[in-house]
Amino acid sequence: MVAYQRVLLKLSGEEFGGGKLGVDPVIVSNIAQQIADVVRSGTQVAVVVGGGNYFRGAELSRNGMARDRADYMGMLGTVMNSIALQDFCEKAGIETRVQSAISMAQVAEPYIPRRAERHLEKGRLVIFGAGSGMPYFSTDTVAAQRALEIGAEVLLMGKQGVDGVYDKDPKVHADAKKFDTLTHDQFLTEDLKVADATAISLARDNNLNLVFFSLSEPGNIARAVAGEPIGTIVTR
Ligand code: UDP
Repeated sequence: MVAYQRVLLKLSGEEFGGGKLGVDPVIVSNIAQQIADVVRSGTQVAVVVGGGNYFRGAELSRNGMARDRADYMGMLGTVMNSIALQDFCEKAGIETRVQSAISMAQVAEPYIPRRAERHLEKGRLVIFGAGSGMPYFSTDTVAAQRALEIGAEVLLMGKQGVDGVYDKDPKVHADAKKFDTLTHDQFLTEDLKVADATAISLARDNNLNLVFFSLSEPGNIARAVAGEPIGTIVTR
């Protein structure tokens, strides 16, 4: 069991809203407490937050919007989540910076990877908002890209109510089988839907491991950071 020194944590937007539109302060404050404990223990943590509790571009475009504009709305949703998480993390006692891929100087720094690394070295939490700033991408892919760019040792994928990767949706199929480990190639050939294929192939090509785990279990972020075998590890 190896504790990680620097991690990239991906939080799905759905988790922030507790399945509803917007931000649930109780849930976000609980996640912030968990992150604060990990940062205080000395691990460097950067976060990418999704925006599924507000808008998903693909869904809006199926309902008549132009895909690129809908995607920008999706990215703006991730900034709202980032600001909410920053607020609760600072209330939990850790210095936090938000860096946005779309410039909005009043609420966030621009995305400057080397400055982000400097924040991490100083023990600050860094939250990356606005996805990649580019339509047609997902925050999973951004999480893999940011993890690689800041030199994180692992990509921790916190999921709502699902404790790992299954061969089919465990919420629908009672006989769904959970994987403890998987290779990136297996993940791609079995076309598993818990993360998008672009994220997994980027991770595969650059030798980045992922851990999928449930955020609903208290203390799970610390367990994942400590390298405990929770959830599913995706490795070469
Ligand atoms: N998005 C985008 N480019 C990016 C990241 C996100 O266009 O680089 C948009 C896209 O519309 C996506 C939405 O932002 O559906 C919210 O992100 P995501 O669906 O990844 O959030 P999650 O499912 O993790 O909550």
